[in-house]
Amino acid sequence: MTRACEVLAVVGARPNFMKVAPILHAAEGVPSLRFTLAHTGQHYDAALSDQFFRELGMREPDVHLKVGSASHAVQTARILERFEEVLLERRPDLVLVAGDVNSTLGCSLAAVKLGIPVAHVEAGLRSGDRTMPEEINRIVTDSVSDLLLTTSRDADDNLEQEGVPSDLIHFVGNTMIDTLRKFEDAARKRKSCESHGAREGEYALVTLHRPSNVDDEAGLVRVLDLLATLSGRSPVLLPLHPRTEASLARHGLAARLDQLGQVKRLPPLGYLDFLSLMVTARLVLTDSGGVQEETTALGVPCFTLRPSTERPVTVTSGTNLLVSDRIEEQTEAIDAFLSGRLELSAKIPELWDGAAGPRIVRVLEHWSESGRPSRVRP
Ligand code: UDP
Repeated sequence: MTRACEVLAVVGARPNFMKVAPILHAAEGVPSLRFTLAHTGQHYDAALSDQFFRELGMREPDVHLKVGSASHAVQTARILERFEEVLLERRPDLVLVAGDVNSTLGCSLAAVKLGIPVAHVEAGLRSGDRTMPEEINRIVTDSVSDLLLTTSRDADDNLEQEGVPSDLIHFVGNTMIDTLRKFEDAARKRKSCESHGAREGEYALVTLHRPSNVDDEAGLVRVLDLLATLSGRSPVLLPLHPRTEASLARHGLAARLDQLGQVKRLPPLGYLDFLSLMVTARLVLTDSGGVQEETTALGVPCFTLRPSTERPVTVTSGTNLLVSDRIEEQTEAIDAFLSGRLELSAKIPELWDGAAGPRIVRVLEHWSESGRPSRVRP
């Protein structure tokens, strides 16, 4: 019997935990795969990292790179340097990365330069907008990955159009939805809205952190104007991402947010609390990637403050409506929904069935048994 395949999985930032946890769980007790876990520390505080380990029942990381916050170049450079050391010491057979954050990019690059194959969870998503740092991370990671694990058929098409051989592409479904289905009942029972003074089905849940919306003053002012209009029609719960909070302070706009009646500002929430607020929200307003998918899986109407999305299936089959950065268009869409002129309903996308983690484990087992092919050493 061949020895077990050593897989080094990587997490680094908030959206990674929900995507990787189901794979670690599905691999438990599978003798041909031995997983270890590296945390880059891209997100390092309790609110964006530690509590997710507890809530999702994830094993403690075996390695912690502690890279912390920095510019994109510095953070990626630190990840490259520190992860290379880990790879040289541990020599895994495969590195597994997820999503589109700097840890995804840095760890996949470090691995491929040492001839270590890479599996990319959530491969092939493309917004077509190269001003998004995440889009660059997606393109580069996919171009060096050996196993491209996709969440939707459009992602397969994108990869094929970019010349990725089709035998490297595996449509496995969405592990973030595995996590959602696992915790959905507990989240419903939790009724977190009540502890934040809101009633089921009567509030808007808002989460914004993309640089295009929150980094410069003009973007923030647009967001505040929209919140002013929205809060005139509905109570708003706003868990603030640290990036958004820092930017509001930097531009002297925090007081303006506090003056908005009906907007309740909250800290970044744990997974269960946030999921609980999503399931009973009347609508969600976001620029998050993952939240567009979760609202589609839950059938909760979602307004996305972005001109494009890398997750088109949430628009074509889901509840997601992209609203431009023009305030008139945003308020018209939300007004149409609140006054019943617009309905947003969902058909659950293919393979978003809660079983993507086990499918990924089967792909890895098969890869391991069939000679562990790699694009580096064909
Ligand atoms: N999320 C959370 N607490 C919050 C806001 C979001 O647990 O206060 C969860 C959300 O349910 C989803 C993930 O974080 O599972 C999305 O992460 P984020 O929006 O930071 O990243 P993106 O998906 O935009 O890359």
